[in-house]
Amino acid sequence: MGNLISFSAFSKDARAVTRLYLGPPCRLLLLRLSIALVFCLLCVICPKSSAFGSDAHKVITQIAESQLTEISRRHIRHIASEFSLHELAVWPDRIRGQLAWRKSAGWHYINSKDDEPFNIKPHTRNGNILSALTYYHQRLSDPLLDRQQRMQSLAFFMHFIQDLHQPLHVGYQHDRGGNDISVQWLNEKKPRNLHWVWDTGLLMAAKKTPKQYYVLLNNISENEKRRWQDSGFIDWAMESKLLRARVYEFHYPSHGQLPILDNAYLTKNRPVIERRLLMAGVRLANELNKIFDPDTVN
Ligand SMILES: [Zn+2]
Repeated sequence: MGNLISFSAFSKDARAVTRLYLGPPCRLLLLRLSIALVFCLLCVICPKSSAFGSDAHKVITQIAESQLTEISRRHIRHIASEFSLHELAVWPDRIRGQLAWRKSAGWHYINSKDDEPFNIKPHTRNGNILSALTYYHQRLSDPLLDRQQRMQSLAFFMHFIQDLHQPLHVGYQHDRGGNDISVQWLNEKKPRNLHWVWDTGLLMAAKKTPKQYYVLLNNISENEKRRWQDSGFIDWAMESKLLRARVYEFHYPSHGQLPILDNAYLTKNRPVIERRLLMAGVRLANELNKIFDPDTVN
């Protein structure tokens, strides 16, 4: 039984990754010859420390899914085909280490000093999360895309709206969005980095499943929802940037000791990241409704 379950989970992941990544002729060949090897390699080379955790993506996706209109849901189901929206939403983290997609690594974040305006570059390999969001937003509305391009665009669009709500995805270049800051996290034996704490650690400490989090968080007044929706990518980046002050609010010991992020840090900041999950879900749903069901939404 155990083998059967893990085998089917494995196959589904492999299919998702392979299909999104490759064109049709290559895809078939690779599926036949080395699907297992490809998937294992993807898992090994995919960087884990700079990705909003998979559970966070799942909670946001569930919140967004619950707020889609019927028409949007139908369009999106058609694009996603046999894959769940969560599978699509985490796909950009799975492929970012691959040679063909290495160009996408910088699209998951933007670096910005406190006092400088956002530099929204063209969407190239040197682009950032704001240029990528603008690009994929426009792609999703393009009727000329083929099926695979549309699926990829949906995956990137969902993923980047989600990443943008993690404060350290609007980071400082000098510490690579907190990746270079080692910390002692709660009672863990090995050091973590600050980026991991905000991607994963704060939520993980609650010991809740994504489903439990979804039920707990997906509860918002219409007024607040409208207020959150009435804003754009740059506003959301600015909110993340402003939250950085509290992210870095901890004691830096001297003589090479690691900063300790304790229960007080957790208690103070977990509500912040939980709220960001809800905001991301509400906004993602609204953006998708505006694209796929404009008559109902506007
Ligand atoms: Zn990401």
